[in-house]
Amino acid sequence: MPRLREPAARVTRVAIIGSGPAAFYAAEALLKQPDVQVDMLERLPTPYGLVRGGVAPDHQKIKSVIAIYEKIAANPAFRYFGNVEYGRDVKRADLESHFHAILYATGAQTDRRLGIPGEDLIGSHSATEFVAWYNGHPDFRDRVFDLSTRSAAVIGMGNVAVDVARILCLPPRQLAETDMADEAIEALSKSQVREVYMLGRRGVVQAAFTTVEVKELGELEDADVIVDADECALDPASAQELAAGRPTLKTKVDIVQGFTQKTPAGKQRRLHIRFCVSPLEILGDDRGRVRGLKIARNRLVKDDTGIRAEPTGEVVELEVGLVFRSVGYKGVPLPELPFDERRGTLPHEKGRVFDPATGSPLRGHYVSGWIKRGPSGVIGNNKADSVETVNTLVEDAKAGLLGSPSSPDPAAFEALLRERQPRLVTFADWRALDRLEVEAGAPQGRPRVKFTTIEGMLDAIPRD
Ligand code: NAP
Repeated sequence: MPRLREPAARVTRVAIIGSGPAAFYAAEALLKQPDVQVDMLERLPTPYGLVRGGVAPDHQKIKSVIAIYEKIAANPAFRYFGNVEYGRDVKRADLESHFHAILYATGAQTDRRLGIPGEDLIGSHSATEFVAWYNGHPDFRDRVFDLSTRSAAVIGMGNVAVDVARILCLPPRQLAETDMADEAIEALSKSQVREVYMLGRRGVVQAAFTTVEVKELGELEDADVIVDADECALDPASAQELAAGRPTLKTKVDIVQGFTQKTPAGKQRRLHIRFCVSPLEILGDDRGRVRGLKIARNRLVKDDTGIRAEPTGEVVELEVGLVFRSVGYKGVPLPELPFDERRGTLPHEKGRVFDPATGSPLRGHYVSGWIKRGPSGVIGNNKADSVETVNTLVEDAKAGLLGSPSSPDPAAFEALLRERQPRLVTFADWRALDRLEVEAGAPQGRPRVKFTTIEGMLDAIPRD
């Protein structure tokens, strides 16, 4: 990586907006440069983005990446300021007057919609809000999911759909071992959902879930996994795609095809994985509640764009009282910045934000993670993504193309923040909260008991 400045030169100050994996990997790459200071700003009091609010609560191992982020945060050139919202507490001009560069890593905060009738019925939810709710995200704690219904559908075949389907199938004992929000453990423990349908519009070869995740579905303690052999059979184009694919694709397909051979053991719940079916309409009852789903059976056709689903004309109804749309996350625009509405990202070139109206770069503004490339890939993919952005930033620094802040003094920025947001959360404050959560979890044998309101978090931080 090129170096940012000669050691004797003045300090380069970078603000990172967001505190998820992309933000921390960007901080790591920046702090490898001499004479760089990083201030990370996060809207919530708590850091780590989807590692805290998205990763499934029964997948604690994945959260071990936090140890790396804690090491990054321990660098004396790093500061964390939580409970600060870009656009509300600090504006673009504030950042431009205090930093040489601003790097946005705000992720993809909303969901994609299906665009079919019935999406707004009571009982139709996005997977993203369900995930955020059970993970104790303060913005979603008041959401209500009617788990008194017997059947639920999850639309989509990605890892988020797998997470949602699996969580709906966990028995109370397993829920109680997690760091899931207390409200969610209580609600899910009383759940009457017995049939869960995961619906993919294309076939098993095209399914977006990964091998380890789908394998786990076959090992659920409390649910039989059911796959129809005909729906899982390969058409010639899919067989060709499989033959040309990586060995891991073959393993994944073998696992799912293996499910077709399983005899249900009569477990409490049944998880049906359905291929080549598309939702046409979410059906409601006279009280505006979901009562079913109209689905079209598809055949697969190959064209220039790849293998896509085409309706056969056969339409069936599925009786379900809950629908979770899990067809991908979507980025939201950031105040005072250009936005690509179609992709849900900031327009950029190798991480350098540019204004499509002029075609020129926005001096000193950079982007990484899902708000840069869209909602794809696992946590680790953000590392290479953030390194690419930091390399671009370093190139610009060398070419004298960063911003020229009028007030680069770190104390001046902190003073401004404290004036705008008196209840600022530092990394030491977060560590105190973290300890309290972990201590609360210990007697219950849980990793932690999360604070799920912002007020609760702020009140719990010891103030001297
Ligand atoms: P995703 O992997 O992009 O999957 C989206 C799914 O929605 C695909 O199956 C897609 O089908 C389907 N879909 C899209 N539009 C549809 C429509 N109109 N009708 C029916 N189906 C539709 O997204 P995700 O599941 O939200 O995951 C986001 C990222 O997070 C992924 O990279 C994922 O691997 C990652 N993640 C990882 C983990 C983990 O590692 N354990 C856990 C959660 C999430 P098509 O393929 O036909 O478009």
